[in-house]
Amino acid sequence: MVKNKVILVIMDGVGYDTALSQCGYLEGMVELGRARRWKMRTALPTISAAMYETIHSGLSPLDHGVSGNEALRRSNVPNVFDQLHQGNYKTAAVAHSYFHSLYNGPYDPIEHVEVEDETKAIQYARFYSMEGYSGANICAPAEIDLCAQATHLIRRNDPDYLLLHTSSVDSTGHKYTADSSQYRIQTWHIDNALARTIPLWLDAGYDIFVTADHGMNADGHHGGTEEIMRHVPFYYLGDASMPEKGTLLDQLAIAPSILDRIGVQIPESMKAPSLFT
Ligand SMILES: [Zn+2]
Repeated sequence: MVKNKVILVIMDGVGYDTALSQCGYLEGMVELGRARRWKMRTALPTISAAMYETIHSGLSPLDHGVSGNEALRRSNVPNVFDQLHQGNYKTAAVAHSYFHSLYNGPYDPIEHVEVEDETKAIQYARFYSMEGYSGANICAPAEIDLCAQATHLIRRNDPDYLLLHTSSVDSTGHKYTADSSQYRIQTWHIDNALARTIPLWLDAGYDIFVTADHGMNADGHHGGTEEIMRHVPFYYLGDASMPEKGTLLDQLAIAPSILDRIGVQIPESMKAPSLFT
């Protein structure tokens, strides 16, 4: 079996329309036929921790139980990180500490800011806490720093799956709303950093997904059912066959698709069909 490697980029809080209007690099790749992009509908409720677990378990928050940020705890359902780890695949992440809490356990910044531990579901990682987040300082790491860390984890560890999660647009949206120059320009900053590192990741042999956990509305809020909260972009940079252009994709399909592409058996709990079948 051909073994594929996958990178998933989660642009926290970037809605569909904002991605299309601001992500000039990703949209340029689409325009030239080097990437494909669909609209994806998220599960509910559209809250970050709930969506992180949905993206990695293929289950609705009503079924995986992480119903919101206050319900954050280690995942207790089959998920991408545990499935890969149990199959002796290598996993990596550059992500908010919530992902440590979900897949590696309670987060202590002193102990877990860097992870190199093959006994963990996320084996190689660089986490950020955003501790001290406030209206005066949103504590968001620079996009290029996150992309560079991911690039070094790839060079050093050659993971089969790497997650890159950036929180800056979500934080900017909460402070300034989605109807703001700050929100739109911060989205462009992610795209601008990806433009420098995606070519390196493609050269390293990765298939790349770029999506968002949820969108954001003009109140600087998400959690409900508005289309601006539920409709997110889903970009694919890779050669495999995928659904027709214009198909509305289901967020529950991300987890089985990652496992399918890497060549791992999809657990029965992941009911949505892989995007690659
Ligand atoms: Zn979020």
